[in-house]
Parts: sequence; C-alpha cells; structure tokens
Amino acid sequence: ASDAGRHPQNDDYRTLSLSAHVGFDSLPDQLIKKSIKQGFSFNVLCIGETGIGKSALINSLFNSNFEDPPSTHFLPRVQLRTQTYELQESDVLLKLTIVNTVGFGDQMNKRDSYQPVVDYIDAQFEAYLQEELKIIRSLFSYHDTRIHVCLYFISPTGRSLKTLDLLTMRSLDSKVNIIPVIGKADSISKTELQEFKSKIMSELVSNGIQIYQFPTDDETVSEINTITNGNLPFAVVGSMEKVNIGDKMVRARQYPWGIVKVENESHCDTVKLRKMLCTNMEDLREKTHAQHYELYRRCRLEEMGFRDIDPETKPVRLPCFQSYADRETVCHSYASSESLQEAYEAKRHKFYLELQRKEEEIKKQFVQRVKEKAAMLKEAEQEVQTKFECLMLIHQEEELKLEEKKKVLEDEIAEFIEKKTTAELLQSQAPVSTPTV
Ligand code: GDP
Repeated sequence: ASDAGRHPQNDDYRTLSLSAHVGFDSLPDQLIKKSIKQGFSFNVLCIGETGIGKSALINSLFNSNFEDPPSTHFLPRVQLRTQTYELQESDVLLKLTIVNTVGFGDQMNKRDSYQPVVDYIDAQFEAYLQEELKIIRSLFSYHDTRIHVCLYFISPTGRSLKTLDLLTMRSLDSKVNIIPVIGKADSISKTELQEFKSKIMSELVSNGIQIYQFPTDDETVSEINTITNGNLPFAVVGSMEKVNIGDKMVRARQYPWGIVKVENESHCDTVKLRKMLCTNMEDLREKTHAQHYELYRRCRLEEMGFRDIDPETKPVRLPCFQSYADRETVCHSYASSESLQEAYEAKRHKFYLELQRKEEEIKKQFVQRVKEKAAMLKEAEQEVQTKFECLMLIHQEEELKLEEKKKVLEDEIAEFIEKKTTAELLQSQAPVSTPTV
C-alpha cells in the first residue's frame, strides 16, 4: 500500500490505496444477509376518531385483511389495541405492529383522549430503556415495541384542525414521527383539498408542531421526498372491499355516481403514502431510536441522577449522548464531570441522608406524640381528682345534715320518753274509784 495522503479532517489518519484486493468490500453484503436473517420490525400507531377510516387504510396500505373489530363511540376511555403480524415479501420478513387508538376523541375532556397515547409511547421507551440497563441484555432478540410512525388522521372538514388535533400532535411531536393524513379524502373536492392541505400546514407551523420530514440528504430520494414534504398531508382513501373492474379485482369504493380506486394516484394519496413509508422505513426507525428515544433516555437518565463525564479530564466511562440540537429546549444539557460510580455514590449518599432525616423526623414526631398523650392523661387525672373532691364535699355536707337530723330525732325521742314517764306517773298517783253496784 502506498501513502495516498492525509485524511482531510483528522491528521491522525492517513488514506492509503490498496495494491491488491483484500475482501472487506463484502461487509455491506454481510450486513444485508444478517438483517434479512434477523427480519425487520415496524410499528405503526394510528390516531384518529372512531370511524375516520383507520382500519380500512391500514388494510389498504399493507394489502392485507387484518382482523380489527369495529369500535363504538361509547367506550369509557381510550384503549390502545395492539396487533402484531408477520408479513413476508420475497425473502424479507416484516414484523408489523399496528396500534389502534380505540375510542379516541369520544371523551368530554380532551386530555383524556391524548394522555393515554402519550403514556403508551413513553411506556414502550421505558421498556426498551429497562432492557438496555440490564446487566444481561437481550436486545438482539428483544421485541422492540417503540412506535416508528404515527399516522394522525384529520377529519375531512375542509375547514381547519380541531383543538384536539393540535393538542395531541403537540404533546407527541417530540416522541414520535408524525405523518398527518386526511382521512376519507374522497368526501372533499379537488380544489377544496388543496386549500385544506395548505391551511393544515400553516396551522401546524403557527402552533409550533413538528411533523416528520422525509429526508432529503440522500440524492436517490431527495427529489421525491422534497416534493412530498411540500405536498403534505396525504389525502387518503381506504377500503376493505375489492371491486371487479375490467376483469381485475381492485381495492376501491363504489358509489352510485362512480368508483374511487384506492390504488389510483389521481384519486388519492394512499399509494403515495405506502411508497413513502416503504422507502423511508429505515429512516423512520432510525429517527425513532436516535432522536425520540435518545431524548427520552437522556431525560430519564438525568432524572435518575446520571451525568456525562467530561472527556477532557477523565476517561469516558459512560456512552456519550448523541447531540440533539433541535430539541434542546425540552431537555437542558449538563456539563458535569461525574462518572457512573460517582453518580451512584452521590445518589446513595443522598438517599442515606434522606433516610436519616426521615428517621429523625419520625423520632421527633414520636416524642411529640408521647408528650401530647402524657399531657392528655394528666389533664384527665386532674379532672377525675376534681370530681372526686367535689363528691367528697357533697358527701360531707350530706353527712352533716344527717347528723343534725339524727340529733333532732334523738331530742324528740328523749322528749317523748320524758312525756311518757310523766304521764305514767300521773296515772299511778290518781285515786282508784270503786264501782257502784
Ligand atoms: P376506524 O374506526 O377509524 O377504524 O374506521 P373504519 O376503517 O372501520 O371505517 C369506518 C367506516 O368508514 C366504514 O364504513 C368504512 O367503509 C368507511 N370508510 C373507511 N375508509 C373510508 C374512506 O376512505 N372513504 C369513505 N368515504 N369511507 C371510508
């Protein structure tokens, strides 16, 4: 190998040209083989009110017949119905998970509609994070349930977005790739549709809602992706049925006045959406991991007390977080030099101090309560004593009264005896009169 110059960005590297074939150009093929063997997973979340056409669109997009029982408007709360299917095309296996928001928009309080969705997305991130944090991890075989794309169904009102649409998308845009779609787009005229699309996009911009942008950095797709980005949202039509047209069964909606073909690009954007999902599937998966999950992971680890160490001063012991400039507002950055061990020790110390403080507090509370109880007992004793003394006084008074009464009675008895004795004496002294015959 000859020296072919220095690396343009790093003086430590030199670019060499090979004098003969080595064989590492087979690396991409190895990756492809491995990926095909492993299969791919793709998780789609459908948000939209009941009856907006979510199930029909999913069936149309994946040319399948997924069993999804129709839902009612009377559910007490939003349910997230998850179904996973294995689809095979050529030798590529796709593990497709469809998450349907059943009962969305049927609640009086708007928060009750979107909060369960936010919680569901966070729960999938949390499950992945917990797997990552395990000492013995099995990420290779782990069924990744993180949502890769959210199809947000907008009602074809032709007017504007509803408050619920804005609130939901705003609370989700930092957690998931949102692709807005206008459901049942066959119910809106062509001119109205263009106006409606522009209105929706300007409302999203003015409300600071970030939707998924198809990547334009890869030149093979940059043109089509740029056009698509400028023509969002997708106006979709779905159907569960196939109609016989010219001896061919095609997915369509049949009306008295004509037929809307789901697969016809001049009738609706369903095929366009399918193409865009398939050609950008890897970007959607990557953005979910590197952007949305990274943000969640970063916030959660910071919450747990972990900090990145400064690579200038210490060797890196924690994996560095990827920079995530456009979402800096959500999570403030740290420039601390703590290591994992230090963070753990600090957390343990903090926990120990907190424990001590709580113990002290409990002791104080206990002493205080004992004091209060003793005071209460003393008070009760005092009360009993007072009552006793009072009763004693009453008793003494009554005893005195009785004593007096007894004396009076005795005097009366003595007087009576005296009177009786006198009477007897007088009777014995009186002359006895002899009866005359
Ligand atoms: P979901 O509750 O959102 O899953 O809605 P469904 O897919 O079950 O559709 C509800 C009703 O709307 C069914 O009668 C469908 O035939 C009809 N529907 C579905 N998609 C479309 C569409 O694109 N256009 C029209 N006009 N009706 C549709």
